Amino acid sequence: LTVLGLESSCDDTAAAVLRRGMDGRTEILSSVVRSQTNLHAAFGGVVPEIAARAHAEVLDYCVEEALSQARCAIPDLDAIAVTAGPGLIGGVVSGVMCAKGLAAATGLPLYGVNHLAGHALTPRLTDDVAYPYLMLLVSGGHCQFLLVKGPDAFSRLGGTIDDAPGEAFDKVARLLGLTQPGGPAVERTAKSGSADTFALPRPLLDRPGCDMSFSGLKTALLRARDTAVAQYGGLPEQVRADLCAGFQAAVVDVLAEKTRRALRDYLDLALAQPTLCVAGGVAANGAIRTKLEAVAAVAGAQFVAPPLALCTDNAAMIAFAAMEQMETRAPDGFDLAARPRWPLDTAQPAMLGSGK
Ligand code: ATP
Ligand code: FE
Repeated sequence: LTVLGLESSCDDTAAAVLRRGMDGRTEILSSVVRSQTNLHAAFGGVVPEIAARAHAEVLDYCVEEALSQARCAIPDLDAIAVTAGPGLIGGVVSGVMCAKGLAAATGLPLYGVNHLAGHALTPRLTDDVAYPYLMLLVSGGHCQFLLVKGPDAFSRLGGTIDDAPGEAFDKVARLLGLTQPGGPAVERTAKSGSADTFALPRPLLDRPGCDMSFSGLKTALLRARDTAVAQYGGLPEQVRADLCAGFQAAVVDVLAEKTRRALRDYLDLALAQPTLCVAGGVAANGAIRTKLEAVAAVAGAQFVAPPLALCTDNAAMIAFAAMEQMETRAPDGFDLAARPRWPLDTAQPAMLGSGK
């Protein structure tokens, strides 16, 4: 079984070819990712219109490149998979149109995949992970706990009620004059700081459940910065490092405590091998990873974090999700819609129109 996947829901254009052998093992034959970061750098964020045009321009090239790296031709393929949402609608439309064109020209079955399902299923591509497992998805745009019960069956246990942590890391970097993407810059700077200098809040820890909030933390950091600037007439290196360390420690504490709670509910299922998985760009953070690994160990759960290239946006996860879903559902028709919103725990088949 050989599947071509396409991904264009944010600022990366990606194509990948995966093959599943008779033994059930899946191999990534190619995974091409073209980042648009340089196109958006001057604007301080992704500009949807620019992103959509850029996707439309490079999708064909990415497909050719993925096929050539995989030493594959169109006749070797068994299906086309594409991100059909959620995401920036212009980019999603570009990918869906490209996939429909390929499917129409070749007669291959077409699978519209939920981008979040792609992220959430990735641990099964890289590791020996059985359903159901607990997934913490933490990225630039998302933060949620998912119980992954099957390729097409997800329950959301809780998540952020405002910003995603990645977004908060990026904002904090901007407030402190660090480079983008903010996550790596804040993590680096935090290494020479003390987390105890500034008392930053741990939002929603006093409330039951797994919901999280990060926007108040951002505002608290802004106030602490302004107070420091007023006091020192600028932002001394040490203060900047202390602010980064304080912010990161607050995010770590919130994620750790909420993960403990999500694990508690999940462990009630009394599975032979309980597993906690993380995915998303923020899972690259060493302090967060180490802490979550410790939380899993205390709870007696296995901890799985896919390699970073498969944690951030890519098309291998889209092709893989389609492969997993093929066993349980029919392909999509040419009425497959691009959806800006598509919560994971609603019915999977994409409905006509832009679902809410
Ligand atoms: P989504 O997948 O939700 O649509 P996205 O594509 O923007 O969003 P990713 O590519 O998964 O998200 O992750 C990017 C985010 O991860 C950025 O916000 C970035 O700052 C953050 N990030 C990357 N490395 C680190 C790190 N070491 N520490 C904290 N955050 C990080
Ligand atoms: Fe993503």
